[in-house]
Amino acid sequence: MPFSKLGLSAPLLKAIEAQLYEQPYPIQQQAIPAILQGKDVLGIAQTGSGKTASFVLPMLEKLQRTAPSRNRFVEALILVPTRELAVQVNEVFKTFGAALPRRVKTLAVYGGVSINPQMLQLSGTDVLVATPGRLLDLIESRAVHLSEVKTLVLDEADKMLNLGFKEEMDRILALLPPKRQNILFSATLGGDVQAVQETLLHSPVTIAV
Ligand code: AMP
Repeated sequence: MPFSKLGLSAPLLKAIEAQLYEQPYPIQQQAIPAILQGKDVLGIAQTGSGKTASFVLPMLEKLQRTAPSRNRFVEALILVPTRELAVQVNEVFKTFGAALPRRVKTLAVYGGVSINPQMLQLSGTDVLVATPGRLLDLIESRAVHLSEVKTLVLDEADKMLNLGFKEEMDRILALLPPKRQNILFSATLGGDVQAVQETLLHSPVTIAV
């Protein structure tokens, strides 16, 4: 099935073409329509499967139809285990979001670097890509608010749990509004991830590639 049949609009299809993506990967074929329909999604997929575009593309599509975020109230939150992944996911948002009619502001925040520049850049951010510890610091500083998050993505959830982020993750989840779309990606579905997905996801579309 080509990208043009997945429910994405012309500006995004153009951006996909510009990346020379010819066909959607299996995870994209299944995840893009499900996310566009507002369903919760459980994706069991490794790095290299195309998992990032499988949530970035439908999220950008949905953001095209919403008003810009109120200052410091982000619309979408992507939680990731590492700085490297934060930067990488943010790059994919920027790559596909650059030429869209409704400008989407995305920002990556992570520890190990000074917090002040991140605070200054947060204003007007629609999509925040964050590691848990730094996100909690920013929340405590009232630099970002999660009460208007419509979509949550937990990327590489197994790694997040292996790195010991469960407690931070739970503190963050408690700050989100109950009515939202949840997307969870993990390379494996071990005991810990299974427990998280059961509390987090509602009747998810499960995709294993
Ligand atoms: P990911 O699994 O998200 O880390 O993506 C792995 C790599 O596959 C990245 O370099 C993407 O740019 C590339 N990629 C993702 N989807 C496609 C596609 N449909 N066609 C060609 N390359 C793709």
